[in-house]
Amino acid sequence: MKKPENLNDTSLEALSRIYRLYDDYINSFSLACTKYCADCCTTALTLTSLEGMMIYKSLDPATRKAVFEKLLACSDMNRFRPAMTTNQYARLCSEHREPPEENYPEKPDKCPFLENEACSIYPVRPFGCRCMISEQPCRRTGSASMDDFALTVNTMFLQVIEHLDQEGFSGNLIDVMLRIGAEQDKTSADCPTVANHPITVLMIPPEHQRKVSPLLSTLNHIIKQAGR
Ligand code: SF4
Ligand code: SF4
Repeated sequence: MKKPENLNDTSLEALSRIYRLYDDYINSFSLACTKYCADCCTTALTLTSLEGMMIYKSLDPATRKAVFEKLLACSDMNRFRPAMTTNQYARLCSEHREPPEENYPEKPDKCPFLENEACSIYPVRPFGCRCMISEQPCRRTGSASMDDFALTVNTMFLQVIEHLDQEGFSGNLIDVMLRIGAEQDKTSADCPTVANHPITVLMIPPEHQRKVSPLLSTLNHIIKQAGR
């Protein structure tokens, strides 16, 4: 497995381009999401190691230690720890195999990067945060409302980001960041993560295939330029 410190700038540049592509795409939507609306900022968030590395590199070295001390203090937090990745799930479904059961916490805690109801790492927030969107305020409806096509697009981006980081790993935000921090410090941390996988099949329903193709071809171009 590729260690996070060996992830090269090409992968990180490709990830930035994927984020920009998605953010531009989502800008055309009429969404209820606004600054300080942060009910979705919880410890249910997962990400890839490449995304974690982007966060790690964005931290000011002078304050990085304090950030990791805070993450360490969150080690006991109630959180979602995925049993598999999106590409694993897609493969199991395509093979008509039963995916392992996931355990979602009933009441996840607040994300450790949330400060005064705003994200302290907003420019480098992972895709799992970018794609948490809703047409109606979640506080009013109780959950995010998204149409099926938006869900298809989100899943496609998740699959491509994992493919880009296929030698890396995924997991809960706290676990991924603590593992990256430990690897950078050449120490170890007991942080359960799952190995990433390349794409074997994309989960795009037939009725969305034509509509999704311009975005997909741009994503293909980006990951090919990154050597994937
Ligand atoms: S997904 Fe829901 S809670 Fe999150 S910013 Fe949008 S409206 Fe607010
Ligand atoms: S990283 Fe930022 S945007 Fe994502 S859940 Fe945490 S506070 Fe919210």
